[in-house]
Amino acid sequence: MTNLKSFKVVKQVRYASQLLPQLSSEKYKVTRKLFGHIRSSDIDYFKEILSADRVLTEESDVLPYNIDWIKNCRGQSKLVLKPKTTQEVSFILKYCNEKRLAVCPQGGNTGLVGGSVPVFDEIVLSFGLMNKIISLDELSGVLVCETGCVLENLDNYVRERKLIMPLDLGAKGSCQIGGNVSTNAGGLRLLRYGNLHGSVLGVEAVKADGTVIDCLRTLKKDNTGYHLKHLFIGSEGTLGVVTKVAIHCPALPKAVSVGFFGVENFNNILRLYASAKSSLGEILSAFEMADNDSISSTVKNLKLPNPISDYPFYVLVETSGSDEAHDAEKLTRFLEKEMDSGLIMDGTVTSEPAKMQTIWNLRENIASAGLLDGYVFKYDVSLPLTSYYNLVPLLRQKLGPMATKVYGYGHVGDGNIHINVTVPKYSKEVSSMLEPFIFEEVAKLRGSISAEHGVGFRKPHYIHYSKDATALLLMNQLKQLMDPNGILNPYKVLPDV
Ligand code: FAD
Repeated sequence: MTNLKSFKVVKQVRYASQLLPQLSSEKYKVTRKLFGHIRSSDIDYFKEILSADRVLTEESDVLPYNIDWIKNCRGQSKLVLKPKTTQEVSFILKYCNEKRLAVCPQGGNTGLVGGSVPVFDEIVLSFGLMNKIISLDELSGVLVCETGCVLENLDNYVRERKLIMPLDLGAKGSCQIGGNVSTNAGGLRLLRYGNLHGSVLGVEAVKADGTVIDCLRTLKKDNTGYHLKHLFIGSEGTLGVVTKVAIHCPALPKAVSVGFFGVENFNNILRLYASAKSSLGEILSAFEMADNDSISSTVKNLKLPNPISDYPFYVLVETSGSDEAHDAEKLTRFLEKEMDSGLIMDGTVTSEPAKMQTIWNLRENIASAGLLDGYVFKYDVSLPLTSYYNLVPLLRQKLGPMATKVYGYGHVGDGNIHINVTVPKYSKEVSSMLEPFIFEEVAKLRGSISAEHGVGFRKPHYIHYSKDATALLLMNQLKQLMDPNGILNPYKVLPDV
């Protein structure tokens, strides 16, 4: 089995000054909280516990850590620390907590809600050097590794041992397992393997005061008290720093097939999904959709081939099973049946790794292709399936010529649509037409304003559209308990009270 999706997120490490995004604090009018300021004695201390080469203070070295992937947010950190061990993380946090120095944990910096970059001068904790695989139990499929392991490297490692990571996303060449856990990343395999609250069996994490919390168990069943690992899954670095992860890896499917279909309208996509679930049953492992603008911009901007011609909508279906001939035949039968019924206008089915990769590349690169059109307002929402695509035409109508394009694509099987609005450059006017409008519409449909990307810096003041006051109060109480000085990733996730 070859590696299907080898797309790598290219990091832009040099920035011409005219390309620099506006400072987040100015763009979003945020006031610095009363944290300590870094002194030279602090830098000396960090050089003592790490080593000089793992303490970055040069402006040009620090700059990439201040800018997020989408180039929307820019922080003003003057210091990046690169720990290699849990103990170093613990020493750093203990010291920062005592001195009230704010910290921003950063994994692969592929987050899409501004959570991974500082807002002011928070110290960036970067985990790229904590990248060891600790153990893999090939029988149970439990992998234990350090936080900074890149997802794609882990997937390659376990594939060689006939296992597969339970998650996969377009950013896998850069994102790290600790970042995945901290964002509760979803992605392309969620339909089949569920979310990380299920597959992560244990974590080791460091609290703001430096205490190491050892919940690094590898058991599937362990009902001894509160399930503390869940506090770190999806809390986006605001409750603790994840340093190690134990994760269950399913068996590598022996046979994978991919179908790519042209569909006339969204209603037919829903009918096709119902049919795929019943015809393909247990081998269905992904059901993704993209509208015409998503695919045509990706084809045009990245010069990627589209294996079928132009259609209003596209569906990508993946099956993963144990019998290649049987699975491919099942998918081909599905294609034939639904071409006869008219739900599929045209399509292709393949089990050849290179061809499957071509199809997945098209789907996975939609997010990065949009960046070449200028600025992208990105929304990641969950909606009931019957209303899944409603917001796209609504936004097109509302924005008219103010948007270059409005398009939708996503994980139909999870009810999660990504809506991208592209404009030549960031515009406050477009922003205020979109927000809070889009969140109000999502709330009316009882959806989630963030299906998988998290809340980060961009959405704390909209979180109430998806969480009620009692839930927010409990979240604040937890934050107060675990990080009383608020040094961990401030300005993120929770709105100011
Ligand atoms: P970062 O971006 O560095 O950080 C994300 C958040 O986690 C920040 O709040 C940060 O402070 C915190 N954090 C990072 N490491 C730690 C740690 N060790 N301890 C505590 N907190 C930490 N997301 C999906 O869910 N599904 C997708 O399909 C998907 N596709 C994507 C495709 C592309 C092209 C891109 C660019 C992004 C995509 N994302 C997707 C978003 C992103 O890749 C995920 O959120 C990913 O899990 C972030 O991992 P990271 O290592 O880059 O974390």
